[in-house]
Amino acid sequence: MYSLVIPLYNEELMVPVLRTRLTAVLDSMGMPWEIVFVDDGSKDKTRDLLHEWQLGESRVVVVHLSRNFGHQAAVIAGLEHSRGEVVAIIDGDLQDPPEILSAMHDKLQEGYDVVYGVRKNRKEGRLLKFCYWLAYRIINSLAECMLPEDSGDFCTMRRCVVDKMLELKEHFPYLRGLRAWLGYRQISFEYDRGARAKGGSKYSLRDLVKLTRDGIFGFTRLPMKLVRLAGTGAIAFSCLYFLFLLISYCLGHRPPAGFSTLIVVACLFAGAQLFSIGLLGEYVCRIYEDVRGRPRYVVSSVAGRNEKSNPTA
Ligand code: UDP
Ligand code: MG
Repeated sequence: MYSLVIPLYNEELMVPVLRTRLTAVLDSMGMPWEIVFVDDGSKDKTRDLLHEWQLGESRVVVVHLSRNFGHQAAVIAGLEHSRGEVVAIIDGDLQDPPEILSAMHDKLQEGYDVVYGVRKNRKEGRLLKFCYWLAYRIINSLAECMLPEDSGDFCTMRRCVVDKMLELKEHFPYLRGLRAWLGYRQISFEYDRGARAKGGSKYSLRDLVKLTRDGIFGFTRLPMKLVRLAGTGAIAFSCLYFLFLLISYCLGHRPPAGFSTLIVVACLFAGAQLFSIGLLGEYVCRIYEDVRGRPRYVVSSVAGRNEKSNPTA
């Protein structure tokens, strides 16, 4: 069985388009399928249109969230309700062409566990394109594990990966990061990202900033390291400045009384405070890692054992 997970928020214009395009694509793939729609608290006719479709099509599942929880949460809800051995995630605006799902599935059959889309081109405004480009570069340059650039949530995964992903009970999930973090045999699939088929973006700049923030805080400790580094820098500067003053004093220079002492003391204490905040932050980061409860490693399989092994630790 092949599951397609689609989050929808106020996509009444898209539902009829989805109906024709997705049914054609999935039928042509020649295997049993289901579509799991997640209605993320839509306020327009999305709910009714999905309901009507679902009544006439038993392969359509609709999960209604009680309010708008955001894209990432909606995708997780969809994954949780999917039953397929292979699960694909796609946005409801069809910016990622569903017609390539079949080729992605073929790639998966070559022995991969995850095939994720990588956008070669985007048909979006220049400013938005730049924002996306910057957001990906910032997270990827800071992340402690390799996150693929220009890859969104559009992907096809095997059930084993989906199950592991669902075990990660993160409150602020950054799915494309978690997918990369999980490992397994992954391969990219390049494609051209089109423009939205209908309607406007449901992702505000604020949502994008939040997603970037979740990416940064979920996958890097760098902000904390920077604070500590700034503290160390300020302490080093005050020490060097003190040395410089001492030497110039010995050489006979006399700066205005009190001025040098003020600078040295201010820098020293500012540095010490920043450094202490950095240290505290390091503890907070470690507590956060523990509370988040990501497994220390993920076992994909064990050879030489008959019983099913406990795959996480
Ligand atoms: N979406 C959602 N909840 C939200 C925002 C968006 O389920 O709070 C859905 C939306 O309906 C679409 C997908 O997430 O199917 C991606 O959103 P969109 O295309 O608006 O984002 P963009 O491509 O502009 O970043
Ligand atoms: Mg979109």
